[in-house]
Amino acid sequence: MKLTEVGSSASYAGPGQACSGHLVQEGDTNVLLDCGNGALANLAHVIDPIELDAVFITHEHPDHFLDVYALWAMLNYAPQGPAGPIDLIVPAGLGDTMKGLLGDRGRSDFDAAFRVRALVPGETIQVGRLAITPHQVEHTDASFALAVQGATSRMCYTSDTAATDPVRQAAQGCDLLLAEATLPEEYAGRAPHMTARQAAEIARDAGAGQLVLTHIWPTNDRIALARDAKSVFSGPVHVAREMDEFQID
Ligand SMILES: [Zn+2]
Ligand SMILES: [Zn+2]
Repeated sequence: MKLTEVGSSASYAGPGQACSGHLVQEGDTNVLLDCGNGALANLAHVIDPIELDAVFITHEHPDHFLDVYALWAMLNYAPQGPAGPIDLIVPAGLGDTMKGLLGDRGRSDFDAAFRVRALVPGETIQVGRLAITPHQVEHTDASFALAVQGATSRMCYTSDTAATDPVRQAAQGCDLLLAEATLPEEYAGRAPHMTARQAAEIARDAGAGQLVLTHIWPTNDRIALARDAKSVFSGPVHVAREMDEFQID
């Protein structure tokens, strides 16, 4: 299984960066976890986005789904003719929220581009060679960490979350933990997000093989994030940048 970071910024993108987007590939299966602003352009360096099998959106915050609109246009107006529909798997109701910005024709095109399905806590969705299980975590009313099982390995993407038991359980036994690390240390506990140190504690307690920090606030000190995480977690630690690739075995 392979992970490619196509968007690593939190909330707004830093220079040359993009908001949340994580491409997971196993064999010929291509799944995108979150599709934040700017992610699609980076994704196109790796695959033709038309080749996506499914897009999962973990929660309703715009930095996790705004490029669904770009993908919608791409699928509808591809030069070779409309492509899709592809599976768009979202918290219940978010598909209708997204369509609320569109006119009649846009809503009809949205339905042509996407088969919208709802994330149900604990209910595994099989997409090609990947089995993906949502775990509800503490952030918005409906936010989901995603546990992704490939042929021989498992990763967990925390989405945005406070460092509480639900994300701890979702991460158990993963080979790679892709964890948000939004907050600088001095902001710990002031918002439902994690610091690098808290993300590393989750990785340590879960027995993760490696830790990749993502959802990085653009002005945060990446060197300090890595240092904080390494003080807690003894395995490999990476602070993700766009186009970083990780082999997960
Ligand atoms: Zn976010
Ligand atoms: Zn969020």
